[in-house]
Amino acid sequence: MAEIHKNYIGGAWVAGADASDNTNPAKPAEIIGTYAMASAADADKAVAAARQALPEWSNTTPQQRHDLLDSVGNQILGRADEIGKTLAREEGKTLPEAIGETMRAGQVFKFFAGEALRQSGEFIPSVRPNIDIEVSREPVGVVGLITPWNFPIAIPAWKMAPALAWGNCVVLKPASLTPASAHVLVEILDACGCPKGAVNLIMGSGGVLGEAMLANADIDAFSFTGSVATGRHIAAACAAMQTKLQLEMGGKNPLVVMDDADLDIAVAAAVNGAFFSTGQRCTASSRLIVHAPIYDAFVEATRKTIKALKVGNPLDAETQIGPVISPEQLQSNLAYLDIAKKEGIEVIGGAALDHADKGYFQNPGLMLDTKNQMRINREEIFGPLASVIKVGDFDEAVAVANDTEFGLSAGICTKSLSHARQFRKQAQAGMVMVNLPTAGVDYHVAFGGRKGSSFGPREQGRYAAEFYTTLKTSYIQA
Ligand code: NAD
Repeated sequence: MAEIHKNYIGGAWVAGADASDNTNPAKPAEIIGTYAMASAADADKAVAAARQALPEWSNTTPQQRHDLLDSVGNQILGRADEIGKTLAREEGKTLPEAIGETMRAGQVFKFFAGEALRQSGEFIPSVRPNIDIEVSREPVGVVGLITPWNFPIAIPAWKMAPALAWGNCVVLKPASLTPASAHVLVEILDACGCPKGAVNLIMGSGGVLGEAMLANADIDAFSFTGSVATGRHIAAACAAMQTKLQLEMGGKNPLVVMDDADLDIAVAAAVNGAFFSTGQRCTASSRLIVHAPIYDAFVEATRKTIKALKVGNPLDAETQIGPVISPEQLQSNLAYLDIAKKEGIEVIGGAALDHADKGYFQNPGLMLDTKNQMRINREEIFGPLASVIKVGDFDEAVAVANDTEFGLSAGICTKSLSHARQFRKQAQAGMVMVNLPTAGVDYHVAFGGRKGSSFGPREQGRYAAEFYTTLKTSYIQA
């Protein structure tokens, strides 16, 4: 019988109520491993284990927390090729992308190892005599982490590392489609001597485990990354319980291309941002807003570039775009293409590919001359599809870029300092890119968006302290 990869609760590897096979989207007949599925009771046990571990972990020294996070970071970096291969097989991004994501997870742990040492507070004289004030940060407590499938090691890492650095204990529930990367991460934490209960892993369905976590009053805060629908559901549950919350959700990110742009840079930014990682990035450039004088040249150059992209098995060296995550996601992507065609839109590429391994492959697709009010431009598609919208001038470009319920990332390609500056000021987005794809960010600075894309404090960098700590103001009379 195949080995079952277990849940990790209170420092022990424990079987779940059930188990499920983790399959390769490039080769659905290939089983990567069998993973335990936890029950709602297991979720409660994991929360209880985190609660029990909290007094000890929150009282460790910054040096102890630094040392654990630093060795976890080193282990991840040292095993990046091997872990990246597992990640590519379970999620479908290309091997270089998957190794890059794994390295990012390692770098995140090493960054927050440093943050564990850099903790500080403020010492302030009172307005009253003989009184001093200290403003300090304390851990929030037990944090529930719920993560999506598209960055199966980086997102758990960028939630878990700051949580631990500031003395919190965590319960991680990764997406059920991609348990392997999270499992490896927790194996590394265990091997590096993470105290029992400080980190807990429960794998399985969001409907069962997510709901059990939301109903558990012993979770002090939730950090969630995933779809808008699930995020809003979690927000409603947290509001009822007054639980601290951070949500990172979808995007419909605009990339503006002005007529003064360097065409090669613009096409490279659009193609990378829209189609790499199979377009399955919350920061994907899904709306290409193009200034009329450069429209034809941009479309022609983009058409040529995407026709030459190699779609295939993520482990093949020449592959540039791997499969879509699941048959359901592929059907959803194709349905959006049908919607576009019914609205009379010309589509370049986008067809599902017949492949010997029966993987969920799809050619990158570009929807031409679309209008921003069309459904394909309002809803996040989350596949290798982008639309092009023609605009008459800079002001219209900004208006169209901002005319969306989302606000994660926004980009502009231009050689004009004035346009770049105005765009940076006017874009209603958490992140702005100039002459770069809307996707692709650093790990030591704030990450997050506005409007429907995000809720609560930012993730990553030192800004993560806002979510993973709570302030205490102490008054001391001499
Ligand atoms: P999803 O919302 O379906 O699932 C995310 C997580 O929520 C999974 O672990 C899932 O099991 C869990 N879940 C499902 N139902 C739940 C419930 N009722 N209660 C609690 N948890 C529940 O999202 P997905 O399909 O895994 O990920 C794709 C989405 O994630 C896209 O919308 C993408 O834009 C978004 N995303 C956002 C960011 C960001 O930082 N803004 C980053 C990556 C992905």
